[in-house]
Amino acid sequence: MEQREKSSVEGQGLKEHIINFCEDRGADLVGFAPVERWGDTGEVPPDFRPRTLWPSAQTVIVIGLEMPLPIVETTPSVLHRDLYRTANQKLDTLAYDLTRHLNRMGHASFFFGRDVYASLKALRDAPMAAFSHVMAAKYAGLGTIGVSRCLLTPEFGPRVRFVSVFTAAEIPADPLVEKELCIKCGLCCRCCPKKALTLRNDSIAGDYNKMACLEMAEDLTKRGCYPCGTCTKVCPIGKDRMLYKGKGIQKKYLKEARALAANPDDPEYKSWTHVRKYGLTKEKAVPVSGTREHGKKEEA
Ligand code: SF4
Ligand code: SF4
Repeated sequence: MEQREKSSVEGQGLKEHIINFCEDRGADLVGFAPVERWGDTGEVPPDFRPRTLWPSAQTVIVIGLEMPLPIVETTPSVLHRDLYRTANQKLDTLAYDLTRHLNRMGHASFFFGRDVYASLKALRDAPMAAFSHVMAAKYAGLGTIGVSRCLLTPEFGPRVRFVSVFTAAEIPADPLVEKELCIKCGLCCRCCPKKALTLRNDSIAGDYNKMACLEMAEDLTKRGCYPCGTCTKVCPIGKDRMLYKGKGIQKKYLKEARALAANPDDPEYKSWTHVRKYGLTKEKAVPVSGTREHGKKEEA
């Protein structure tokens, strides 16, 4: 059993140690937020701040994992559902491992799991998480919140999922991303199958109809291919798009519903519709379009 005396590794050295620990285990993004940031901005109600959940917290470490674009593009599909589950499981494992590792170093730690809700019914009764990883990622300098209310990152746009580890150690903060990444293109609003998102003139974050999005989630859960994530699919932000080189892809997203309504076998969409057709029982087979008929938003 390793000792729990406080390690001499602190400050910047501890920060580098944590980054290496996470990256060695597959993390794509790691950011550090001092808990004071929740109080400074006042955006998050006091009951939902880190020190309410765990009074010893000084720093929140946010870990992100990429959701590869070509898989997200098949949504709604079992392939996308499995990716979502794998990412969630890996995030919880990473957070659990880092928490125990920091405890062994003598830095008391705690983590808030990836998706802490019992069922979609529980979300219908109280449609809010006890802690927002999206806000934590913003305060850890990993990105900015877009019209879709997802956190947009320079690396992957909104195609990334997060988990948060709280520690009593004081660790140097990462700077906030100052420039808004969302360009207000409105694609997320136009392609949302439930029209749950609306642009606002007075803010970047759009209006978000949680219940409409939840309805979508309920529908897709019955079909075995939850979550929706269309708003994360279509967002043009993120260097991952350069890697996958989807020339003219925005037009393809916008035309998808109409094209597939006219011809469910439209060859232009074959790589997505093929995946959507399989892996479900017949009565659960989903419509081939991912954009207009098909929710709970993937709260990153
Ligand atoms: S799709 Fe466009 S409007 Fe929506 S979050 Fe992304 S950049 Fe912003
Ligand atoms: S997850 Fe789907 S239903 Fe919910 S806001 Fe995004 S696009 Fe709309």
